[in-house]
Amino acid sequence: MYDDSSLPPADEVQTRFGIDRRDFLTFCAGIAATLGLPRAAEAQIASAIVSKERPSVIWLHHQECTGCTESLLRSEHPTLDKLILDIISLDYHETLFAAAGHQVEAARLAAMEKNKGKYLLVVEGAIPTKDGGIYCKIAGQTSLDLTRECAANAAAVLAIGSCASWGGMPSTPPNPTGSTGVGEALGRSDVVSIPGCPPNPYNFLATVVHFLTFGKLPDLDAKNRPLFAYGRLIHENCERRAHFDAGRFALEFGDEGHRKGYCLYKLGCKGPETHANCPIVLFGDVGMQSWPVGTGHPCIGCTEQGIGFAKPIYALADLKNQRPPVTYARAVEEQGGGATAASAGLVGALVGAAVGAGAMLTKKIRHDEDGQE
Ligand code: SF4
Repeated sequence: MYDDSSLPPADEVQTRFGIDRRDFLTFCAGIAATLGLPRAAEAQIASAIVSKERPSVIWLHHQECTGCTESLLRSEHPTLDKLILDIISLDYHETLFAAAGHQVEAARLAAMEKNKGKYLLVVEGAIPTKDGGIYCKIAGQTSLDLTRECAANAAAVLAIGSCASWGGMPSTPPNPTGSTGVGEALGRSDVVSIPGCPPNPYNFLATVVHFLTFGKLPDLDAKNRPLFAYGRLIHENCERRAHFDAGRFALEFGDEGHRKGYCLYKLGCKGPETHANCPIVLFGDVGMQSWPVGTGHPCIGCTEQGIGFAKPIYALADLKNQRPPVTYARAVEEQGGGATAASAGLVGALVGAAVGAGAMLTKKIRHDEDGQE
């Protein structure tokens, strides 16, 4: 239990965000769970969001498909897209700005001057470096020069999506424009990466809310990814893991095993060598199966440099912590004895659900006006 008096009053939340306090606290609980913080952090996050000045964000686009922005703003959750724009002060965003040309460039320069040393620079898309970076230009500047200029006085630089993190799709061979990620292009080792194609909106927002609440960025792994989101292999939390352990695999798309929800390892799933929280946080808030593996497609490893967009989909994942049986039973042969497909599926669901219970349940928590569950 936490002290209810530390939570923002309902009318203030309604006025500021246009949603009731129950939805707001549900959102804060989801962010706290995503960050792996204890229950009491929900109140601290709620208080920081309401009382602290919104961080200024300068958002650049380079070589990309705008899918990262789309995933943030096209969320099925009724409040997420709204809250994003209320939690940050989006002072420059080429896709969303109604203004254009000199007007919008002047707004960017003014915001950078006003918030010198305090703004967050978010970069979406890879940066071409070949031939002086001439293959992507914005307002007469190359992506490289524009990013250098904006990064110089930023409090932190966030690379959102796989393209900005290490080059992603634009950097695949033969990479004619010399595309690469923000950290490498700038020659900086302190750029925070939030890879994914697209990245989960909660991972971006949780990183920003951590910065807002605690005045610093979350702990990072060796590839500068937030540990709360990229600390575990997808394979560890996958709802099909029990099928993997039992040697039940889909061997072709549409076969018996595929229809029964068996493990997708033999179809090239890269979950065993890909770090991300996709099976826990899911996408779109539409239900338990709203992520690629949940809908029957193997993970392509989009959050992992050297795997996503690099390793062929048919290639088997390098198993980092467990090896499957030498022979693989077809689903139809499985029915004779031992655990049934249904029971194994249930165990798999329970294993996945137990590991991810904190995040998933918290997203569904509803509080009454006294802050009680
Ligand atoms: Fe899930 Fe893929 Fe691991 Fe199978 S190989 S358990 S589908 S992550």
